[in-house]
Parts: sequence; structure tokens; C-alpha cells
Amino acid sequence: MLAAHYNTVVIGAGPAGLMAAIEAYNPKHSIILLEKMRKPALKLRISGKGRCNITNEEGLQSFLNRFGKKGRFLKYSFSQFFNHDLLNYLHKMDVPTKLERGGRYFPQSDRATDIVDAFVNKLDQLRIPLITEAHVTALSKAENGQFVIQVRHSGKPIEVTADQVCITSGGLSYPATGSTGEGYLMAQAFGHTITDTAPSLVPVLTAGDTAQRIQGVSLRNVTVSVWSENKKVTELFGEMMFTRKGVTGPIILTLSETLVSMLDASREVQIKIDLKPALDHKKLDQRLLREISEHSKQSFKNMLKSLLPRKMIDLFIDILGVDPHKHLHQITGEERKQLRLLLKAFPMQVIGHDSYDHAIVTSGGVSLKEINPTTMESKLTPNLYFAGEVMDVNGETGGYNLTSSWSTAWLAGREMRNKQWGELGHGKE
Ligand SMILES: Cc1cc2nc3c(=O)[nH]c(=O)nc-3n(C[C@H](O)[C@H](O)[C@H](O)COP(=O)(O)OP(=O)(O)OC[C@H]3O[C@@H](n4cnc5c(N)ncnc54)[C@H](O)[C@@H]3O)c2cc1C
Repeated sequence: MLAAHYNTVVIGAGPAGLMAAIEAYNPKHSIILLEKMRKPALKLRISGKGRCNITNEEGLQSFLNRFGKKGRFLKYSFSQFFNHDLLNYLHKMDVPTKLERGGRYFPQSDRATDIVDAFVNKLDQLRIPLITEAHVTALSKAENGQFVIQVRHSGKPIEVTADQVCITSGGLSYPATGSTGEGYLMAQAFGHTITDTAPSLVPVLTAGDTAQRIQGVSLRNVTVSVWSENKKVTELFGEMMFTRKGVTGPIILTLSETLVSMLDASREVQIKIDLKPALDHKKLDQRLLREISEHSKQSFKNMLKSLLPRKMIDLFIDILGVDPHKHLHQITGEERKQLRLLLKAFPMQVIGHDSYDHAIVTSGGVSLKEINPTTMESKLTPNLYFAGEVMDVNGETGGYNLTSSWSTAWLAGREMRNKQWGELGHGKE
């Protein structure tokens, strides 16, 4: 049952909302967390393929760099609550964690749901109501300065008022989890600017049937470069994979923000995969020559087995147009050169990207210029706070996005608590 008035209302029970509600807690302060779906944190439950990559081991500066220019906005919140604070926080809630390759932390159980359960238990302990199927349909301010929140709860319209509101309703990606961008409309109602939004950390689509032919192949330790009009735009080293319609995996997802913005600007976009980044052209040629002289009676197809994942061999043979049964001593200089060029720059034309349905995060959101980075309070409307992905903050894959959601929510929660506590006649904690 919803009361008519609360000190603090938090809208959206994703990772940011769960944290903000808990951190806003003080014993004299009424708080409520409203979630429109039947369960809280649906996206968190599926994060990291259900394992949840919580955070990353990286130091502060390189961590901030993962957010590009938007990293500056996060500097203060990370100075207050960063990766190891988050890990300690989870340990205190009985969620032990483990460190994996790439500095990535996961729950020891490999279950993202353990994290959701821990936050929900904490809310229970603090007796903070988490109301599910409570869909906030509008947010406004009454003449007395209180917020007025229209809620559709289990199908019925209800009006709630509040002294403080925190919008943690997420962005637009994976809308089936409840993140459908409604927080943008609430923010706009208070004059906030919403910067252009686009799917980010999203698989990209490539021309022809190349990807389909090698779908499922995963490449480690490759360099992918992005090209437009014969100019290299950027490149990244790491892991990627082929899908039925294109490419995905950590480096592609990270490059996707650049790729999407180039596509949106109608630029011609190509990626080139360097399958042998550890060898420059000269060294790779020497390696091919060695193979050819040491195994001169072997077939061309056999040699490719030592150079490529099995599923890519036929594709290479088709592209190069070399007889797969040809003995290595019969391979011409030109054929060897074409093989080398293909290994160093396997080209794929990028023709599009997946939709929000498959984007890990949204780029764009509530303009950071209008939010105080030291409090997460709106610069336009006192007592209105934001945290998490609803803001124009998005980072690379590797645990960076959840950390920013939790860190900004921690800060917003603390600020809301301190403000209420101060208004109750207590000093700042
Ligand atoms: C498949 C996938 C895997 C991911 N894996 C990782 C990972 O391993 N590591 C990582 O760092 N990041 C990962 N991310 C990104 C990360 O999950 C998000 O950045 C994070 O969930 C954002 O948190 P949030 O609380 O701001 O928003 P959300 O998680 O989007 O939560 C917003 C909540 O608000 C609710 N809501 C929306 N509108 C209303 C309304 N009008 N009324 C009431 N409630 C409302 C929604 O139902 C939702 O529960 C992944 C994302 C996806 C999609």
C-alpha cells in the first residue's frame, strides 16, 4: 500500500535505484523505491551473460578514460565510491567476488541474481519499501515545492508526493528489461536537455555473407582498425567474434560508439582485422616463407590450418582463389603476398548496427552540464537527483558501466540522506 507522502522517492529499481534508496536511508526518513516491472533489476540479472561483471581493477585515471570526455563528470563520484569500495560493499552484503582476466570482477558464485538478492535483502533490513509494478507515468512539482508523482500501481492510478526525487530509470537499451527512456521525459518536464541518444556497445552488421559463413568464430589477440574513405580512424587490440549478421565481442562493442556515429553521419565505414598483429609484414612474410620451405610438399589448405581458425580456412581459399590442394612449393610470390595482406587486413564493410534491443548501453541522456557532479542534484530543480544510465554517461565493456551507475547512485543517496538529516536538525554525516 502506498502512502500519500514520502521524504524521498526513487524511480526505477535497477542497480542505481537499489543503491540510491539504500544510501538515502536514515531512520527518521521515509523512502520508497518504485519499479514498473514485476521484479527489480531485470537488466542487472542478465548482465555479463548472467554472471555480472561488477567492476574493474583498473586505477582511477585509466578507468575514467573508459568514459571518454564524460569521464570528467565521474571524477568526483569515483573519488567518493570507487571499485574497491564497491567490492567491500558487496562483501559486507555477503557477496564474495573474484578477479578474472582483464581486471574484471564477478560474484564468486557467477550469479548476477545474488547481487540483486543482496540489495533487496538490504532494503528489507532497512524497511525501505520496494514497490514493483509501480509505473511512474508523470513527475511534476506542486506550488508548495513538493514533487507530485503519478504512479500506475497494478493498473490503478495513484498520486504520491515527495520532498526529494531521484530518477534512476536507465536508458533505452534492452527495453524488455524495463528501460524505455521514460526518465528522459520526466527530466524534460523540469527543463532538462536530453543529448542525442543512440545504441552503444552494440553488435554491428556487415555486408555479404562473410560473417554468416564464419559465425561463432571467436578471435583473440587481434587488432581491429576502423577505416573511412581510405583513412584509418582508430584501432583496438583484443577479442572479437563473428555473428550471423556481422561482428561483436569486446573490441567491436567498444568501437561501436565510433562506428554508429560514423554510420549515422552517412559515412562509408570499413573494418580491417589484423589476424597477426604481433608480426609486421616483413616478419609475417618470413614466417610464410619458412612454412613453405619446411613443408614444401604440404597442401596450401594444410598450411592455412596453422595460421587460421578452422572455420575460416575455406573462406580464405575462396577469397584468395588459390587451389587448396596446390603444393606449397607451387605457391607463387603473388599468392603469398595476397595471403599476407589478407591476414594483416581482413576487410569487412560495415553497413549498420543492431538496435537498442541488443545494445548494452545507451549513449546520450540527461545532459551532464545540468547535473552537479559533486551531488548528482539537478542544477535546474533543487531536490531532483539523477543517477545511473539515465544520464549522458556510458563507458566501455569491462565492468565500467555498472560501476558508474553504483557510484553515482551512492553519491546521490548520500546527498539525499544528508539533506534530509540536516533538515531534521542534525549535522551532515
Ligand atoms: C545484456 C547486458 C549485459 C550487461 N552486462 C554488463 C556487465 O557485465 N557489466 C557492466 O558494467 N555493465 C553491464 N551492462 C550495462 C548495465 O547493466 C547498465 O549500465 C546498468 O544496468 C544501468 O543501471 P541503471 O540502474 O542506471 O538502469 P537500468 O538497469 O536500466 O534500470 C532502470 C530501472 O528503472 C525501471 N524504470 C524505467 N522507467 C520506469 C518508470 N517510469 N517507473 C518505474 N520504473 C521504471 C526499469 O524497469 C529498470 O528496472 C549490461 C547491459 C546489458 C543490456
